[in-house]
Amino acid sequence: MKKLYAVLLLVCLCLCAGCGEQQVQKSDIVLDTAVTLTADGADAKAAIDESMARLKNIDGMVNPNVPDSDVCKLAQYAGSGHWVSLHPEVYKMLAFAQEYAAKTNGAFDVTTKPLVDLWGIGTDHAKVPSPQELMAAQKLVGWQKLELNEENHSARLQEKGMGVDLGGIAKGFAVDEVRQIYAKYGIKDGLINLGASSMYGLGLNKEGKSWRIGLRHPRKDDAQQKMAVLSLQDAALSTSGDYERFFEAGGVRYHHIIDPRTGRPAQSGAMSVTILADASVPDGGMLTDLLTTAVFVLGPEQGTRFLQTLPRGVEGAVVDGRYQLWTTGNMAAEMENVSEEFQFWQGSGELQ
Ligand code: ADP
Ligand code: MG
Repeated sequence: MKKLYAVLLLVCLCLCAGCGEQQVQKSDIVLDTAVTLTADGADAKAAIDESMARLKNIDGMVNPNVPDSDVCKLAQYAGSGHWVSLHPEVYKMLAFAQEYAAKTNGAFDVTTKPLVDLWGIGTDHAKVPSPQELMAAQKLVGWQKLELNEENHSARLQEKGMGVDLGGIAKGFAVDEVRQIYAKYGIKDGLINLGASSMYGLGLNKEGKSWRIGLRHPRKDDAQQKMAVLSLQDAALSTSGDYERFFEAGGVRYHHIIDPRTGRPAQSGAMSVTILADASVPDGGMLTDLLTTAVFVLGPEQGTRFLQTLPRGVEGAVVDGRYQLWTTGNMAAEMENVSEEFQFWQGSGELQ
């Protein structure tokens, strides 16, 4: 870990030959994620410093380990009838989450927290819960039991023991915020990288080419083994997979994306989901982050059908257990260097 920090805290400042502009890159761990921000331009350093501060500020609102964070307050007052005043940022995330909870019939549901906590995937107390524990946690989950008041940006949870988990949306929201800070400083080229979970590629890289992002092979332990490569130019990209945080017991892979309807890690037939949203899509970072989780829960067939209902500019690829790629929009054409182990699902074209 120490080594990781040493590498991450390395601040790289280099002169871009010829143009006299500086490319600045800075890394840190925020929102439980290895974040790397890159920007090119006269104000690149100021933009990155402000962006890092903003990420830490958002972290303080959504972090369940920060006692006075909005998410802690919501859990604390759950069932009391008390409305909790929220930062506008958290209100925006919750309102967006509720809109998509309704659209996905609850496949995406931020009230899944009691189940996330019970399974503890990615923590040192991960376990397969007993049926009784599962039933008790499931009773405390349900997006209809989260009430929002738009007038004063407040919210309340109807039952004691409920909570919200913004792990499937906050990093995407944060990407959009950094994008706005980059715009304020006139940054035209840069990469906002909040782990594979959420990215935004702005303009071009140092070589004057679009940013190239490798999509991880879902069944290779080595994160460097790629399934395909995508070019990212003025677009948001998000990936979620069952290989990110998981444990295995009795031959079953228990991972961190929970199907709120079964109370268990989603067994939808998907191994990974990648979503792209171009610059025309409002809140593209938050949307792609949310959609990877939602589409994973829905599975390849229902998930790609759902993607078809969304505005133009949003497209995705779902990898199923047979290494078939279910794609929407122009995604099949945009995926480069696709590893030979994967095939495009024959119906992909028909989905258009
Ligand atoms: P990450 O980006 O951290 O890899 P994802 O974007 O795949 O994670 O989102 C998964 C996270 O979202 C989980 O760790 C959990 O905090 C939360 N989560 C899990 N299942 C759901 C769900 N069905 N709806 C909303 N949030 C979920
Ligand atoms: Mg994500």
